Amino acid sequence: MTVQKKHTSKKGFRCAECDIGIVRPVAAPGRLARHRTLSLPVPADLEIPTCDHCGTEWIGDSVARKLDAALEKEFRVRMRELVTVSLARLSKHSISKAYVERVLGLSQGYLSHLTTTGDKTPSEALALNLVHFAQNPQRLRSSEALWKKLSGAKPDPTGALGG
Ligand SMILES: [Zn+2]
Repeated sequence: MTVQKKHTSKKGFRCAECDIGIVRPVAAPGRLARHRTLSLPVPADLEIPTCDHCGTEWIGDSVARKLDAALEKEFRVRMRELVTVSLARLSKHSISKAYVERVLGLSQGYLSHLTTTGDKTPSEALALNLVHFAQNPQRLRSSEALWKKLSGAKPDPTGALGG
């Protein structure tokens, strides 16, 4: 805890933003921070040097790393839940993960891996696709038809759009 002494010192320092307040580490519930596409809760026990006058947060490298790690963890949980409920919905329509993987060009077992192990965050692009398929399973079937239209000797991308 001796690194970033300037930013974590309990004595604080004068805020360069308003030149009035003192910047001190603040840990509080109810804070939100933007992370990728989501606004996520900042862990209540994470100390962020904050001006007691204007509220400016002075985030040094050490705090930024901790904040990013905490937000990414929460982001992963939420994306994974979205993927999991989407796949469960598709399963009710008798659509297997293997089928989804085939249509999306994902490697076999990828979706199982994504929803069960701790080291990967589903991308927003993948999560959105799965949500749209879950809302309308027919789209998955038409996606399969689309790949057929792009196959063969005379590919037809315009036809694939359905236009
Ligand atoms: Zn200030």
